[in-house]
Amino acid sequence: MSPAPQIYRPPARGRSVVVVGAGLGGLSAAISLRAEGFDVEVVERNPQIGGKLNFREVDGFGFDLGPSIFTLPQFFRSLFERAGRRMEDYVELEPVAPHWRNFFEDGLVIDLDDDPEVMRGEFAKLPGGASRHWEQLQKFLEYARGQYRLVEGGYFAEGIDNLWELIRFYGLRKLIFKMDHRNRMAGAIARHFEDEHLRRIFEYFIKYVGSSALDAPGYMNMMPVIQFDYGLWYVRGGMYRLAEGLGRLLDELGIGLRLGCEVASISREGRSVRGVVLADGEELAADYVVCNMEVVPAYEKLLGESPRFLKKLRKFAPACSGLVIHLGTDRVYEQLAHHNFFYSADQGAHFDAVFRRGELPDDPTIYLVAPTRTDPAKAPEGCDNLKILPHIPPIDPARPLGRGDYLAFRDRVLDKLERMGLSGLREHTVVEDLITPIDIERMYRSNRGSIYGVVSDWKMNRAFKAPKRSQRYRNLFFTGGSVNPGGGMPMAILCGQKVSDRVVALEAARN
Ligand SMILES: Cc1cc2nc3c(=O)[nH]c(=O)nc-3n(C[C@H](O)[C@H](O)[C@H](O)COP(=O)(O)OP(=O)(O)OC[C@H]3O[C@@H](n4cnc5c(N)ncnc54)[C@H](O)[C@@H]3O)c2cc1C
Repeated sequence: MSPAPQIYRPPARGRSVVVVGAGLGGLSAAISLRAEGFDVEVVERNPQIGGKLNFREVDGFGFDLGPSIFTLPQFFRSLFERAGRRMEDYVELEPVAPHWRNFFEDGLVIDLDDDPEVMRGEFAKLPGGASRHWEQLQKFLEYARGQYRLVEGGYFAEGIDNLWELIRFYGLRKLIFKMDHRNRMAGAIARHFEDEHLRRIFEYFIKYVGSSALDAPGYMNMMPVIQFDYGLWYVRGGMYRLAEGLGRLLDELGIGLRLGCEVASISREGRSVRGVVLADGEELAADYVVCNMEVVPAYEKLLGESPRFLKKLRKFAPACSGLVIHLGTDRVYEQLAHHNFFYSADQGAHFDAVFRRGELPDDPTIYLVAPTRTDPAKAPEGCDNLKILPHIPPIDPARPLGRGDYLAFRDRVLDKLERMGLSGLREHTVVEDLITPIDIERMYRSNRGSIYGVVSDWKMNRAFKAPKRSQRYRNLFFTGGSVNPGGGMPMAILCGQKVSDRVVALEAARN
């Protein structure tokens, strides 16, 4: 084992930051800023940290309420390194194999994995010849790696926030000729793969940002690279161990934390903010405010901005929400891998319903997690712990759905799973826990129950989320899924680090 790096103790700057919310973006910003010598205090309305990274235990079944797939460990590692720590001392990762098991209505079951031998074997199940599909996958990955390298070099590494920064960094030539914005994601996939099953699988990588493969730009096809080149991981002991590891680091760094404490407003003076006011009226003054509440509800509720200003934020529409069904069953469904997908017979209709019409899909593509395949402690012996997550539209305030609508949809989802092989799912259920978009909005104050922040949609926002620095207040910053580079754990973790870089640059310009 290599020796632990020296613990970095930055010189105190005598400058203060209040972070609103202890989701991953908030925690990452807090740790990064503390490592730069700021006095940091985090204020979280829930009794625990982690935001959507959340956990609930019911009768011996341990349910991860939010994320279940861990990718891009390098962005987490860099956060720990900023604080002079090694991630391995806080969080243990286990590789998951196969990556995904894919079930189709025609009875085909095919695994996705980064092991070439496994993939060649799986392709033999498809009509048309394994080597032909293998070659198509290689060509697709070559294209996807090109897109990933481009996005990583600027958008990720430089923390780019808008089209002008993008043009300045990449130059128009590269942007026009190299970055695939001409195609939509699904279009580029159709050009690479002949097989309809493979098309559906690669389209569904858009799940990682809760958007539609019909509306996201072609360069979002970089997403399979995340998995094929950097692996798919489970956090040993359960995903919430990540929040616990970050909580320990918070403690060690002397970052203040107030739990069960809601921020009611951000106080301002002209073009600056002065701190926050808590629900009980207490005021916390700070030189900077970093807000992990999503951008749209924050401007609306914490800053009370005018309808005219809020209209400008419409392009930062919410990503999808989800119906999160947790089942504890008194039997094991042997056919399941850790991560499973049950595809819609018409995935185009699924995307259309969720993202364009804002309706519950008739026949959704369903993601299903069975964590005991990697971590047997998550269910009593002989039982299964199933998390079922179809993506559905965020809440539409003009046509809100009620719990009854979501319950009817839950039945449709269970019917589909039973039809596709999980027989007797209902009768074998001994524990059930249901989270609707209404709950998600209430629990995390997310925008209309969104689970991944802002949608990635070429026409609406060119797949940009909101900028890290407020365009209205010079010392107000945002972090998390509604801010570039967007939703999903690794992006939220990267976002907090890039927010810190921007604050440090602003301080340097001030001195
Ligand atoms: C069901 C589900 C499945 C998912 N699956 C995956 C997955 O497999 N892999 C993956 O990488 N990602 C997944 N995600 C997405 C991932 O969880 C999020 O993108 C990420 O955790 C969001 O982090 P965030 O920084 O935006 O903060 P959030 O998690 O949104 O947290 C914001 C925090 O701010 C607090 N807050 C808000 N307003 C206030 C206020 N006024 N005062 C005080 N506190 C406030 C909230 O209580 C919350 O704790 C999933 C999410 C869900 C819900």
